[in-house]
Amino acid sequence: MTGCLALNASFEPLTVLPIRRALRLVIDRKAEVLEVDRTRVFRSEKRELACPSVIRLVRYVHVPRKFRRQVTNTFLFARDGYRCQYCNRHKSELRGREFLTRDHVLPLSLGGDNRWENVVTACSACNNRKGSHLPSEVGMHPLHPPHEPNYVELVWAVRRITLVQAKYIRMFYGEDVLRALQSS
Ligand SMILES: [Zn+2]
Repeated sequence: MTGCLALNASFEPLTVLPIRRALRLVIDRKAEVLEVDRTRVFRSEKRELACPSVIRLVRYVHVPRKFRRQVTNTFLFARDGYRCQYCNRHKSELRGREFLTRDHVLPLSLGGDNRWENVVTACSACNNRKGSHLPSEVGMHPLHPPHEPNYVELVWAVRRITLVQAKYIRMFYGEDVLRALQSS
């Protein structure tokens, strides 16, 4: 059974909630209903309610990152727009046997780790060239400082979203991220 997609006040998709919890937020006036699943009703002891499929929090909440999700290449590449962060070539511009890889800005051999802030997309050629050097040693700095994307929280939730819910994720994050979420 699909849950309810919860958006922040900014329309940023946050997570998928059980229907019961989503209804609680609506009844307490902490969220407004944006979309209703007309094929389902929620029955409590007292009443029947239309099932919300997308709700939006009335007030913006800052979501603390409690868990550090593992970085998969699917999401790493999507975060970086499928572009090498050193030569800026898109996946589609790579030649013959080149491919996208994960580069550790601070190399693993020098104590680097796999957190979002230390990994970037690199083509195999750039990755080989950088090797296990520091960016400053070889003059190779990522085009965009790596950071953890907010949609990571959604990875575990979107496996069974509806088309209507997918629309809201696409609106906020774009088609690439939606596809990465759905194929991970
Ligand atoms: Zn490159």
